[in-house]
Amino acid sequence: MSVSRIAFIGLGNMGGGMAANQAKAGRDVLAFDLSEAALKRAVEAGCKAAASAAEAVREADVVITMLPAGPHVRKVYDEQVLPNARPGTVMVDCSTIDVESARAVAAQVKAAGFRFADAPVSGGTAAADAGSLAFMVGCDEADFALVEEILAPMSRATIRAGDHGTGQAAKICNNMVLGISMIAVCEAVALAEKLGLDPERFFEITSKSSGQCWSVTSYYPWPGPVPAAPSNRGYEGGFATAMMLKDLKLAQDAAAKAGAATPMGAQAEGLYALFERLGAGGKDFSAILHLLRGQLGDIGLPKP
Ligand code: NAD
Repeated sequence: MSVSRIAFIGLGNMGGGMAANQAKAGRDVLAFDLSEAALKRAVEAGCKAAASAAEAVREADVVITMLPAGPHVRKVYDEQVLPNARPGTVMVDCSTIDVESARAVAAQVKAAGFRFADAPVSGGTAAADAGSLAFMVGCDEADFALVEEILAPMSRATIRAGDHGTGQAAKICNNMVLGISMIAVCEAVALAEKLGLDPERFFEITSKSSGQCWSVTSYYPWPGPVPAAPSNRGYEGGFATAMMLKDLKLAQDAAAKAGAATPMGAQAEGLYALFERLGAGGKDFSAILHLLRGQLGDIGLPKP
């Protein structure tokens, strides 16, 4: 089947770069977002603006959604995608949502006679812009090759996790690691500073030692050592604290239902919830460094 006409719905921090990479690969991208500014950026990057999600879907072979959370995805599939899709359309949701919503949407899509994959991503906005995201895919085995072809212009690795919903399961487990590891790195940086060790020098050391992890090497929370990290642009853009908190809540809900013990995940959820309450919901999650340093003023927030 053809994957040349793509309806791309949700052009935010992630979806904007992803849609642009589909256009760069020569595909016809019919883009829609509720935000006019986001839509304008997508058009500047080679996409065509659609007047509504429904209009984009009506002309597409493939629908890709990159929306904030489960309720947005359910609503958009219910009201815009399913009533307007042409026979044969393949639907791929790249948002991070709860496993239950992913399975409910998959069942609804399949009952309507279409193919579906949950395909959340890892890599952040830099990888979205560069076309080097990792995709974790829940889909029927027979559909995986097609899903891989659809995702190729945005991907450095596309891995099938299993059936519908397992892509989201992989994502929330992965992000629980990320949420916890970022706090660990921030605690260490704050301690290093208090002990008179330059945080940039600490980067040089820990990035080559056993503390090395993605939160250090690709996303260091102290400005300087990792130029693409949000710490170098006032923690704007990137992966919002509110989004990280959403993912940690998803992990805690899933853990409670599955009877899994996740005490560090629970601690991380509590800390990001506090950080959000202090006004940092829109800042990149790595800004939690400044809560741990006791220096919220450094990111423009009042002291609690
Ligand atoms: P974002 O808030 O920047 O973008 C979401 C976009 O969806 C916004 O532009 C919004 O206007 C649009 N939108 C909301 N409802 C809509 C609707 N009904 N129709 C059309 N557009 C609608 O969020 P983001 O950072 O791009 O994240 C998107 C998803 O990707 C989330 O599920 C997030 O958890 C996940 N994610 C984000 C990152 C990251 O680093 N930012 C990394 C991996 C995964």
